[in-house]
Amino acid sequence: MDYLQTPLKESVRRKAMELGFHAVGFASIRPMYQAMERFRKMISEGRHGEMGYLETGMEARENPSMLMAGAKTLISVALPWPARPKPYDPQGSVSSHAITQDYHLTVGQLLHELLGFIRSKSEVPVGGLVCVDNAPVLEKAWAEAAGIGRTGKNTLLIVPGAGSRIFLGELLLDLAMEPDEPLELDPCGTCTACLENCPTGALTEAGRLDATRCISYLTIELKREFTEEEAAMTEAWLYGCDRCTDACPHNEVKPADSTTLFAPLDALVNLTATDALSLTGSGFRKLFAGTTGMRLGLRRLKRNARAIKERDEKDIR
Ligand code: SF4
Ligand code: SF4
Repeated sequence: MDYLQTPLKESVRRKAMELGFHAVGFASIRPMYQAMERFRKMISEGRHGEMGYLETGMEARENPSMLMAGAKTLISVALPWPARPKPYDPQGSVSSHAITQDYHLTVGQLLHELLGFIRSKSEVPVGGLVCVDNAPVLEKAWAEAAGIGRTGKNTLLIVPGAGSRIFLGELLLDLAMEPDEPLELDPCGTCTACLENCPTGALTEAGRLDATRCISYLTIELKREFTEEEAAMTEAWLYGCDRCTDACPHNEVKPADSTTLFAPLDALVNLTATDALSLTGSGFRKLFAGTTGMRLGLRRLKRNARAIKERDEKDIR
């Protein structure tokens, strides 16, 4: 393929970095056979739990050109978020990615800005599609293909200099641009800190997550009430879980750039199970307005809080 867009590509990369992305990479659109094989295995083994939406959109997941006619290039971006300003609190804790404004909006807005920039610089009309968890895209596999990071034993993408505290987004373009090379990097070596620090054994082996045992899945994704076994697993997490992320040496870095976009909200940093149980509907909406926690809803927040309080009460008895 003749990549006439090389000068444009480099100005797009610069613009993306100016917008605050920590990493940006380019990949040519093609079917993702190997990644889909792993994905289908995960589904057939039931490791996705009750996330039925992962069973849909398989064809598009395998080949993003199903998402946008004529798609030729995928730009993968990573935007870092900061760690919680205070450590895990046994009275109640919200994961660091959720104590700040909703990344879907922020990453989406920045990618739309990037698309506008590309259109303003291109000599030909450009079709584009912004994806931030709103389409079936194998985002980690594409981020690897685009050379912005490698997946660690924690099953998360690790981006050099930013670790795994990153939000990912993708921009599909109908413009052929020269792809970047995948990184030659083993991010983990002999480290096994994430597996050792997972309190539930959800990381059953290196690079293999059983979501049905993962506190993030249980407190965020699971729609129904907990079984007794599930309620016993969630520690003091009201939303998400940072254990494996906090244990990862790659996350000791503090990326200096876009973390200011995700300033922590004190009310969420300090939210306890007792506070959550006393919330009214309007109090919940006020507290979580503009954050990813809004989609959880008050009923499930209280379910998570009850599990914490009931465990505490059992411990006292
Ligand atoms: S988020 Fe928590 S429960 Fe899930 S794998 Fe990581 S440490 Fe384990
Ligand atoms: S904690 Fe260690 S093993 Fe786990 S992802 Fe990070 S570097 Fe890899």
